[in-house]
Amino acid sequence: LEPKEEFSHKTLAMDVMRPRRSDPPLSVVTQDGMSVEEVETLIADTSYSGFPVVVSQESQRLVGFVLRRDLVISIENARQRQEGVVSTSRIFFTEYTPPQPPSFPPPLKLRGIMDLSPFTVTDHTAMDIVVDIFRKLGLRQCLVTHNGRLLGIITKKDILKHMAQIANRDPDSILFN
Ligand code: ADP
Repeated sequence: LEPKEEFSHKTLAMDVMRPRRSDPPLSVVTQDGMSVEEVETLIADTSYSGFPVVVSQESQRLVGFVLRRDLVISIENARQRQEGVVSTSRIFFTEYTPPQPPSFPPPLKLRGIMDLSPFTVTDHTAMDIVVDIFRKLGLRQCLVTHNGRLLGIITKKDILKHMAQIANRDPDSILFN
């Protein structure tokens, strides 16, 4: 990532984060209640490297972050090895898994693959600070919240793209290049 002077215009996290206003909402998984099939569909329909885990769709309270590849591997393994895990099995990222009714297939417990403290900034955080944090902590992505509600995500590539855009429309960079 290039030097932070690029962000002297006081770009904020909300200016760089996805989704944009016109985009579909963030793809998230809930900490309980989703079926194996629902998560497999989400994986098949998107190409994101990871998914925020939230308490519920309504609350959008952040619980953690799970990498796409870890989800894929865990579900595959469970389907192959874990007795009785099928499409209708429920996935739990919670510490406690409530007992399932006898007629239900066994649950799939995935708390172990979740990052419990994904890096988070608020939508009003200045981008020069965000870039600093990305560099110092070697982040791949960072989540954006407002009043504790998950709003968006910023990846390293989002930052690089945004920097390229600023460089292109900065008249100085045209004069001196
Ligand atoms: P990269 O930015 O390195 O290509 P991704 O493939 O994870 O990484 O993300 C592609 C784009 O989608 C980025 O602009 C990112 O901000 C956005 N994005 C990443 N994860 C999600 C998600 N779970 N829901 C919605 N958008 C996402």
